[in-house]
Amino acid sequence: MTFDKRKIVLIAAVSLATLASVVAIVPPRPDGAGASRGLFAARSPETPKPAPASLASSNANDVRSAEAADTVATAGTKAVEAVETNAVAPAVAESAAQQNRALKDGLSWTFGGKPQRGWAIYVPLVQRLVGTEDDAASAGFAASIARWQKRVGLTASGVLDEATLMRMISTWQARRRKGSTYPRPDELLTVPATEFWDSSRADDLRQVERQTYAAYKRMLAAAVADSSVQLASRNGELAASEKYLKIISAFRSREYQDRLRKLEPNAGRGALAVNSPHFTGRALDLYVGGEPTITKDSNRALQTQTRAYRWLVRKAERFGFCPYFYEPWHWEYCAQ
Ligand SMILES: [Zn+2]
Repeated sequence: MTFDKRKIVLIAAVSLATLASVVAIVPPRPDGAGASRGLFAARSPETPKPAPASLASSNANDVRSAEAADTVATAGTKAVEAVETNAVAPAVAESAAQQNRALKDGLSWTFGGKPQRGWAIYVPLVQRLVGTEDDAASAGFAASIARWQKRVGLTASGVLDEATLMRMISTWQARRRKGSTYPRPDELLTVPATEFWDSSRADDLRQVERQTYAAYKRMLAAAVADSSVQLASRNGELAASEKYLKIISAFRSREYQDRLRKLEPNAGRGALAVNSPHFTGRALDLYVGGEPTITKDSNRALQTQTRAYRWLVRKAERFGFCPYFYEPWHWEYCAQ
């Protein structure tokens, strides 16, 4: 063998070895980072992904893939449905339903450093997310939970346990507005007092970002036109006497928020927020029943039963609004 031939053989051998090692390294990355995983999840939502070892749902990639998978879910293609029909066996769904019955009011979890109990308050949002109207204690609901779990890479148990709830919360949270850009004065307009829940609210506290207000008006017209919401109306507009879906609060300046914090040290988390989405003028607190903006469980449980709230959960998204899961009254204009 000449020197040249030996050199070529050596180079070929090294190249093969390199290729083999690359092949060995690359494939086992089911949890591959970045957009590729999101795309993969979007195309093949039925592909099981390993369940996160811990509550890794705060991981941005997880959130993106859950988001992508959920978009596919909403599209509801026949192929996806066919694959998912058997996400969980009927007997498993029945036993999961029994566990859900207990967890609905009993699951212990934490949010914002505060202990929480159960997930009954979030049932309308959960039903919307997993695409079912079945009762939370039913086998049908458990089967829908299992399909969603499978889609986002969790174990398809059908049980709405803490890991599943945390994943749902990160999915909801990922849809919210990012940042809190302060609007220019010309981006805000002052809404007539009659459109506010408290019609005596001062002018400077009735400002809303223009696009958000236009979207709100379109949404309101649709709600008024939908007889199932049973809103009192006059000439296609919300009647002056109607309280539901009126604006409680919209744009809040930093100065106002500071003042609120000093005046009401015991006010809710929203009022105390140092970096509130209300700074953008694109967050609206809408009246959905009960005490307008009190986070007490009993109040939120009441609010999430109202026709107005349930309508928002089903329809607000198509007008560009996304919910803040924890506060039934708080909706953000998320369309860019
Ligand atoms: Zn709010």
